[in-house]
Amino acid sequence: MSNFNWCHGPSCHTNETQSRVRGSKGNKVLRTIKIKENEWNKDHAFKYFCNQNCLYGFINKHLEEIVKIAPRREALETPIKDPVKETHHNGYYNWNNWTIEKK
Ligand SMILES: [Zn+2]
Repeated sequence: MSNFNWCHGPSCHTNETQSRVRGSKGNKVLRTIKIKENEWNKDHAFKYFCNQNCLYGFINKHLEEIVKIAPRREALETPIKDPVKETHHNGYYNWNNWTIEKK
């Protein structure tokens, strides 16, 4: 028993790749990619999308509906400590840490 999803990319079935060709001679079609759920994609968007193009195709097509699920009406903030004022000391700059030596 293995679960699978059809790729949700709106244009997946229009990409001309060998992996999408199905049907018998004279009745060939390009078919949406079938994605098996596995350890690597089980908690990830790539269980529903065969590649980034399909993912972004879906996002762009349904953008307004997606944003309505969890709209952001205010900016979020993360508390931090006051930044320390950096002062040059003999003009020495520690290139290894990318920090300016403090007095
Ligand atoms: Zn796809």
